[in-house]
Amino acid sequence: MSIQQAPQVKSLNPPRRVLMGPGPSDVSDRVREAMAKPLVGHLDPEFLSIMDDNQSMLRYVFQTNNELTIPISATGSAGMEACIVNLIQEGDKILIGVNGVFGKRMADVAERAGAEVVTIEKPWGEVFSLAEVKNAWQTHKPKFLGLVHGETSTGALQPLDGIGELVHGDDGFLIVDAVTSLAGVPVMVDEWGIDAVYSGSQKCLSCPPGLAPVSFSQRAADVLSSRKSKVQSWYLDLSMVMGYWGGERAYHHTAPVSMNYGLHAALQQICEEGLETRWQRHDNLHRCLAAGLEGLGLQFMADKAHRLPQLNAVAIPDGVDDAKVRRRLLQDFNIEIGGGLGAFKGKVWRIGLMGDACGKNQVLTLLGALEYCLK
Ligand code: PLP
Repeated sequence: MSIQQAPQVKSLNPPRRVLMGPGPSDVSDRVREAMAKPLVGHLDPEFLSIMDDNQSMLRYVFQTNNELTIPISATGSAGMEACIVNLIQEGDKILIGVNGVFGKRMADVAERAGAEVVTIEKPWGEVFSLAEVKNAWQTHKPKFLGLVHGETSTGALQPLDGIGELVHGDDGFLIVDAVTSLAGVPVMVDEWGIDAVYSGSQKCLSCPPGLAPVSFSQRAADVLSSRKSKVQSWYLDLSMVMGYWGGERAYHHTAPVSMNYGLHAALQQICEEGLETRWQRHDNLHRCLAAGLEGLGLQFMADKAHRLPQLNAVAIPDGVDDAKVRRRLLQDFNIEIGGGLGAFKGKVWRIGLMGDACGKNQVLTLLGALEYCLK
């Protein structure tokens, strides 16, 4: 038997960055300390009560009474897949708004799940008006509508007013991507008639990446329970996952215990701050940041009327070396900002103001550092 030699690696020593990119955002010491607490089993009574807390705090953050509200054990994309694969059956028609990377991803996921996908498209940075959505909805007559609330690739905030009523008027279902929007701007799941919503732990919830909170309305849960075909994904089949998160506590997969500790601490911080105060903090500091960025001559990709406060996408000025500026911000100032994605690659910087990274000091430091790097 010849045994491969163990590699020699350095001890783990990540630097303390200021995470002002598109996520992950900074997490508090309280969240990090929670994740380092002693491990218990995923069926330990102590952990079961943490699960209950996480569900009730998620209901608050989503502003919903939905029974089916849980953190999926994986990142935001798995939240997207969970919403799609549990609701879509072969041949179901879904209309998806595509105005950036994540609408496109939703369309891809839905197509893989066997849906008949139709899209409405808008230039990146723009959003859909209610009239445009209504027109596409009435033309295509789908069963589902999928919209990205906060499009992280462009920094645009999709208004959702009136959309739930439109869709419900025809017995349809509204699926919303709230990965970046949740806990940074209002996401009123019950009031807005959202039937399935997914998010990610690493944005405005300020927890490390690894959990995807989702919530299904009773109507959406009924679709799931009356399915004729099995859910395409075993791992994400919520009818089985709910055997664990619901009353029965039956083993489905081993829950990521320490991630749920982290989420508990992160959600508790949100509950203590209060959603309204948190939304206001994001809005106020976005205004300060926007004034400073505009003062530096940077232009936003999204119109002022529908900007996502927590994701500021600005055009990289002509002649400026994208990679060099971001490298200097990281090396000299320990600040991470994001580059562009997809069509915006090399053209845009994405400056996050998410959760714990959304503070006065961070805004002032970034503006000073960026001015220095742009010289
Ligand atoms: N949807 C949006 C709007 C996102 O911003 C992201 C990630 O940035 C995702 C979905 C996918 O989430 P994840 O990268 O956690 O899988």
